[in-house]
Amino acid sequence: MDLRICHLYPDLMCIYGDRGNVIALAQRARWRGIDAQVRELREGEALDPDWADLYFFGGGQDLGQDVVSRDLQGANGEALRRALASSAAILSVCGGYQLLGHEYVPADGPAIPGLGLLDVTTRAGKLRFVGNLLAEAPQGTLIGFENHSGCTYLGPQARPLARVVVGHGNNGEDRTEGAVQGRIVGTYCHGSVLPKNPWLADMLLLWALERRHGAVRLDPLDDTMELAARRAAAEVARTRP
Ligand code: GLN
Repeated sequence: MDLRICHLYPDLMCIYGDRGNVIALAQRARWRGIDAQVRELREGEALDPDWADLYFFGGGQDLGQDVVSRDLQGANGEALRRALASSAAILSVCGGYQLLGHEYVPADGPAIPGLGLLDVTTRAGKLRFVGNLLAEAPQGTLIGFENHSGCTYLGPQARPLARVVVGHGNNGEDRTEGAVQGRIVGTYCHGSVLPKNPWLADMLLLWALERRHGAVRLDPLDDTMELAARRAAAEVARTRP
């Protein structure tokens, strides 16, 4: 069995350790004997909608988001739409998450159009939310680090990934964190989020592998270290928010 991962805009959209998510996805597949291949897509290159099973779209500064948004308004946006419609999966973090929504309205300047693949809309808020982010999802605890001024609001097609326990999450108001819609996941957890949250990594791997291999079962891994890291990070978040 093999797995194909596409890292979107690694030079423009990859801050606060987000690259570690691609490493974690590939390694958790390889530990299971799955041949994981990683390709990168940069601005101006053509996205092949038939290749990848799984996409990673990291966070970035407003300037990077503007450049990437323009690249996605053309053929690459249509290709990504086609890929996700053919049951590929995607994990998006912060700026990448915002660009999968309808739009991101920065503090100054015109709105940055998104792809509308997630029923969410983001507006820059007056505060920058920076700090540990601890939330509870139906599948388990989610722990990460947030750094964003964007406030994201979910529409009826999207559901929250988790409920905030410590930190701000989507907007610091409704206690939601992230969004899920089909096989599209958005989160504000940087850090990188997947090494300390193995349930989320394996959920994405399952979705991705099903795209070309049908129903698969992932052998359990020894996540002793990962879960110890999550417990330690959650403890820090609870005691020193
Ligand atoms: N520019 C966006 C914001 O500040 C996203 C930042 C990020 O990706 N960390 O909300």
